[in-house]
Amino acid sequence: MNRTHAFLEVRALSKTFDVSPPLLARVLERKPRQMLHAVDRISFSIERGQTLALVGESGCGKSTVARLLVGLYEPSEGSVHLEGQEVHSGLQSKDSRAMRRRMQMIFQDPYASLNPRWRVQSIIGEGLKVQGIVTDPQEYKSRVENLLTTVGLSAADVTKYPHQFSGGQRQRISIARALATSPDFLVCDEPTSALDVSVQAQVLNIMKDLQHERGLTYLFISHNLAVVRYVSDRVGVMYLGRLVEIADKNELFENPRHPYTRMLIDAVPKLKTTGQPRVPVQGEIPNPLNPPTGCSFHPRCPHASSRCKNERPDFIYQHSTFVACHAVEEGRI
Ligand code: SF4
Repeated sequence: MNRTHAFLEVRALSKTFDVSPPLLARVLERKPRQMLHAVDRISFSIERGQTLALVGESGCGKSTVARLLVGLYEPSEGSVHLEGQEVHSGLQSKDSRAMRRRMQMIFQDPYASLNPRWRVQSIIGEGLKVQGIVTDPQEYKSRVENLLTTVGLSAADVTKYPHQFSGGQRQRISIARALATSPDFLVCDEPTSALDVSVQAQVLNIMKDLQHERGLTYLFISHNLAVVRYVSDRVGVMYLGRLVEIADKNELFENPRHPYTRMLIDAVPKLKTTGQPRVPVQGEIPNPLNPPTGCSFHPRCPHASSRCKNERPDFIYQHSTFVACHAVEEGRI
């Protein structure tokens, strides 16, 4: 039987880090091992040419998901399939280059992610050389120049160093570098959060144009809901390593169901209600080394019941939204 796959399928993906003190200190102080469940059994899919945004407060595990997807971390459990092929076994196979070419990552900080001692030509062309895509020097130069003009920079910039560019221009160089191997999947980890607001819009527009022209698929990580609303097709909300809601963008922003999603959206200032106070996000994120039982959001949730304190909610599908909340399931909210 033929099974049609989503472009990207993530199934029950988990990542646990051992953050225990050194063995000797543990023995002397009689302390147990400490495990941090940074990502806890999350599942989602992305269709080709679409953007799924992952949102949540800092420390919720979204950047760990990004690194898991491109193979920078090995999963503790679960799998990631790109058009039916398991990514991590693909990256360890003899033909790992083919998988590596298909997926690239754009990092948050364009100041830290570009080697300051390398000229732009080497930064952008590194993937072409390492992957053995281009060996002819003339073709290499013209490919790099082409990539620079694709992101709105000048071909003459190939000889410059990163410090000669502004933050927005550096992020364009990062995008050009990511495109060098002609990937079809880009993982973007807060790609504009280090930039001024006016520059953010330019970079986001370039990314949207490139997606349209090249049929790229994005996983977009951000804590900024305005940015997410602008770039995404679907949105997943993460809390303490777990996904709590996934929905189409418009549905999520207009009818948020999970209390945490509502809290995040209520905290965003709205043009229509200028003059009314926004509701800041309430409460503190619990210690991820000692997460609350049941629904991990229960200490901050205005709808928590005794069931919430004891039983982890499963995803239910309601009005085209996946949501993990007992109160939604029980019809209390
Ligand atoms: Fe709140 Fe309970 Fe829903 Fe968790 S399961 S979000 S505690 S109502």
